[in-house]
Amino acid sequence: MNDIVLRARGVRKRFGDSEVLKGVDLDVAAGEVLCVIGPSGSGKSTLLRCFNHLERIDAGRVLVGGELVGYEPYGPSGSVLRERRPRDIRRQRERIGMVFQRFHLFPHRTAVQNVMEGPVVVKRRPRAEAERQARGLLARVGLADRADHYPGQLSGGQQQRVAIARALAMEPTLMLFDEPTSALDPELVGEVLGVMRDLARSGMTMIVVTHEMGFAREVADRVLFLDQGAAVEEGPPEQVFGDPRQERTRAFLSTVL
Ligand code: ADP
Ligand code: MG
Repeated sequence: MNDIVLRARGVRKRFGDSEVLKGVDLDVAAGEVLCVIGPSGSGKSTLLRCFNHLERIDAGRVLVGGELVGYEPYGPSGSVLRERRPRDIRRQRERIGMVFQRFHLFPHRTAVQNVMEGPVVVKRRPRAEAERQARGLLARVGLADRADHYPGQLSGGQQQRVAIARALAMEPTLMLFDEPTSALDPELVGEVLGVMRDLARSGMTMIVVTHEMGFAREVADRVLFLDQGAAVEEGPPEQVFGDPRQERTRAFLSTVL
């Protein structure tokens, strides 16, 4: 059995009266690519945010690299048993790269400056070394010749590739993607999916929330169908797409395929 990079057990999250995650269990092994599919509002983004300390879970536990994310599970009285220190949270976050629908690049910094930022500021790498690494990563996402351009001079697909390079610059053990191509014009989707496919082939552990069923079918090792905050079905893409076991999965797929 491969090392488990991410383990979630009974993860619950509530916003006001609505329970958005209703006890999600999940294991992702090293080198595995998990695609998460499901209707809008089913809790996909919230789930990723819980894995990266952007949301605090109400119950259950999340472990990344065998270490609890955030805090010990809540006690019976609802109290936090043990809160992690901010320093530990920062260290854990550094291990998890996240790519969002929107690219969130610094507009007044060039592509290479955007990619170097994390290593220089957070990891205190020497600038020259960070720049070398950043240029290498930009080459890897096909943007060697755009390294000194500003985000405003790049297409959406190019900006998203810079955002991927920026996440990789922190040398994460796990990459989370939240609908990385949904904000792109259709003709730019392919170049971003291509970079993600290469990354998957290089052995990166990835959790990808996506509406790109073709990508999920081709690249995912496993597909998870989330509906109304519950993991309804999980399995290899051939099974989930080709022969879904649950009626809800079937109904969802009939609306998107
Ligand atoms: P998905 O990514 O699958 O579309 P989300 O995780 O974004 O779903 O949202 C799941 C549900 O939680 C939705 O009903 C959404 O409105 C709600 N929600 C998400 N974030 C918040 C928040 N910060 N405050 C209140 N409700 C939220
Ligand atoms: Mg979402």
